[in-house]
Amino acid sequence: MSGGAKKREIERRLLLAKYPRASGRSDVPLVFSDDDDHDPLVLEDCPSCHGRGTRCDERGGVASLDACDACDGAGTTFELVRYFASSAPAVEVAADDEGWATCPGCSYRFSTRSPAAWTGRRHVRCGQRIVLT
Ligand SMILES: [Zn+2]
Ligand SMILES: [Zn+2]
Repeated sequence: MSGGAKKREIERRLLLAKYPRASGRSDVPLVFSDDDDHDPLVLEDCPSCHGRGTRCDERGGVASLDACDACDGAGTTFELVRYFASSAPAVEVAADDEGWATCPGCSYRFSTRSPAAWTGRRHVRCGQRIVLT
């Protein structure tokens, strides 16, 4: 391994240890904080394998799972991107008595009591910023 390749390898390991992956395939948890407007930096998924790091090859009716060529099996391009693509301005939404609201960004109903659906500022499904009233 050349010096440059080794340096790149170390940089990549640091990135993997520090940033979560867009696909969630990472031990690093996604944290939504006011510091980054609930839009954390994540490692972009490899567009070729959608973050899986593998591709399914079928030759002569036999399927085999190989490492993705585009990312060498890493599953990420190692580019840092924002987790949510939405930069739409915040919209005021009223939640019902049970804490359910309809997202103005994607029209889905979600529970404002579920951390998997609601970051406290953004709808997780689409990233729409919402002010609950
Ligand atoms: Zn890939
Ligand atoms: Zn939404």
